[in-house]
Amino acid sequence: MRLTETVTRFAPSPNGYLHAGHALSAIIAHDTARRAGGRFLLRIEDIDLTRARTEFTDAIYDDLGWLGLDWEKPVLVQSHFFPDYLEAAGRLIAQGLLYPCFASRAEIADAAEPARTDPDGAALYPGLWKNAPAEAVAARIAAGETPAMRLDMEAALVAAQSKLGQAPLTFAEIGADGTSRQVLADPGRWGDAVIVRKDVPASYHLAVVVDDARQGVTLVTRGTDLFAATDLQRLLQVLLDLPEPRYSHHRLVCWSDGRKLSKSNGDMGLRALRADGASADDIRRVIGVADAVPV
Ligand code: GLU
Repeated sequence: MRLTETVTRFAPSPNGYLHAGHALSAIIAHDTARRAGGRFLLRIEDIDLTRARTEFTDAIYDDLGWLGLDWEKPVLVQSHFFPDYLEAAGRLIAQGLLYPCFASRAEIADAAEPARTDPDGAALYPGLWKNAPAEAVAARIAAGETPAMRLDMEAALVAAQSKLGQAPLTFAEIGADGTSRQVLADPGRWGDAVIVRKDVPASYHLAVVVDDARQGVTLVTRGTDLFAATDLQRLLQVLLDLPEPRYSHHRLVCWSDGRKLSKSNGDMGLRALRADGASADDIRRVIGVADAVPV
């Protein structure tokens, strides 16, 4: 019996058609699991109800099948699990680590210091509703408004440290050559991040950690564009007592001038390449993962 089975996942957001960069992510997750005799899962990350469309979800299944990948069924579709994300948020609230925030984007932009940004380049939340009087919160709720719930980062770091004891917050990063190194996580640079959005009862970071745990994912493979997100996700895992997966952030598929492929521009879209007569093997060759792993 395998004691630590390798379980990987590909977790696309169905808000556009997949491009060659997604193919690289999906193929790495798939082939890594197959080589290890493990399991490959697919997860549809459709919590952004304004952008997700079922035609894109259907296209994801179709494109991945065309690439020759196979995955376990049923597929986890995040929009079916909002109560679970709220339950996890409730556990953070019970620890006193989330607070309601009613600030609009414009109010945040006005108050923010442009020089202080998070790893995605967005202005750090300027703390507008941190320690807000209970009456102010009650008045907005009475007026029918729904707040976002933000992480009190200062308190969260203290709470996590008390769970970790002397140990630092880290994660294991597996390189393309298979070597492992411990990375020191620095979640503080995300500031008081949104954990439950105003418009949907979840957020990307919360849903990811809940589902990586629920699905028993042991190795998160994804692009280096999500490397910094791992810091915040590790913090949430510690606060929610969730297991720690290993991580492997892979290179991105870029234009020769370094620009990332864009879903909205239709860059290197798999559907278009296929319509132009490309085969799944052509895609593998172009993105540099030539050898399909026999299933
Ligand atoms: N849904 C995310 C995306 O499409 C990926 C999430 C992840 O791999 O952690 O960018």
